[in-house]
Amino acid sequence: MLHEDTLATSVLRPTYVTIDLNVLTKNYHTITRHAADQKVIFILKANAYGHGLIKIAQHLEGLGAYYFGVAYLEEGIMLREAGVKTSILVLGGIIGNQIPLFIKHDLTITASSIEKLKQIEQTAQSMGKKAIAHLKIDTGMERIGMHYYSAEALLEESLKCKHTLIEGIFTHFANADEEDDSYTLLQVSRFESILAFYNKRNLTRPFVHMSNSGAMLQLKDTACDMIRVGILLYGIYPAPHLKLLIDVSPVLSWQTHVVFFKVVKPDHPVSYGGAWSSDHNTRVVTLPLGYGDGYMRAMSNKAKVLIRGRKYDQVGNICMDQMMVNLEDGTAYNGDEVVLIGRQGDEEIRIEDLASWAGTIPYEIMTIINTRVPRVYIDNAPSMLS
Ligand SMILES: *Cc1c(COP(=O)(O)O)cnc(C)c1O
Repeated sequence: MLHEDTLATSVLRPTYVTIDLNVLTKNYHTITRHAADQKVIFILKANAYGHGLIKIAQHLEGLGAYYFGVAYLEEGIMLREAGVKTSILVLGGIIGNQIPLFIKHDLTITASSIEKLKQIEQTAQSMGKKAIAHLKIDTGMERIGMHYYSAEALLEESLKCKHTLIEGIFTHFANADEEDDSYTLLQVSRFESILAFYNKRNLTRPFVHMSNSGAMLQLKDTACDMIRVGILLYGIYPAPHLKLLIDVSPVLSWQTHVVFFKVVKPDHPVSYGGAWSSDHNTRVVTLPLGYGDGYMRAMSNKAKVLIRGRKYDQVGNICMDQMMVNLEDGTAYNGDEVVLIGRQGDEEIRIEDLASWAGTIPYEIMTIINTRVPRVYIDNAPSMLS
């Protein structure tokens, strides 16, 4: 069954991203099984890594997801306005005047300093409501959070809160996807020295979490209560060497269709800047997408696409809305499906391939696919028996 975001756009646009919710379901079960006793915070920031914030959240909520994580307040509000009831932790830094909105929408706040925790407490008190917060400890990322060497003061302050539920405490790794785990282990030991605060005072500690996808696969952090999983949910590995440790599959594929066919003569350069030409007659097709859709210009003359089960070279500079592909003596007709990411026949192009052509990481390829590309959802789940 195909659920299309809006029928009109997907009919009008021969370029679309396909999101297979059946694969998402499989990945969800694989990850929750792997996490065993640990609760999973599923990370949905940046439009659920390009997969569509609301649809992905609703699907995971239907599967019984325990907690969601987003980067920004606005992402949390969008989920609440769509009717999502699951707990949502907003991971990013906050500005004081945002706090009432966090409380109003029942969003969990990251408290990254004493000053911010005090602001949260005062705002909750003045609203006559309870705020929910997770304390953020910086153990070596130098992004947000209270430095580990002065974090005890934040924990002390948190004990005074009456209007704020200190539900969790967390840190974030800088190098968790690397084979060399020495820096990660240093961060763990810094974090543990802070957590000892609760033991020393015989206090029940709040939920503890530190691992992202990379650390979930490489680190034994079973003493933690929760893990935060992003990229793995979408079936992409944070780094190639982590592939063997868990079996997840890509949820996203990207298709377009041939809109123009021609033969290009020798010494007739293709596209802006004339960066590519052939020394013999060759068949070239034009595709209706470009860097304005998030197919990065940096991939010009490096990218490959699939047509009729064969891999072909993208040639000439990628334009904003169009790009060319060299068929040599291959065959393609107007209207033929072209796969930019995903499988066709026996061939596959992975997000990791695009990342290497663009000189970036898979995370950026996933989040850069523009929202003007319609998302089409596949869901073969049997309808609920009543
Ligand atoms: C994005 C993010 C994650 C998820 O990272 P993945 O590598 O995608 O699993 C976890 N924690 C924080 C704080 C993040 O910003």
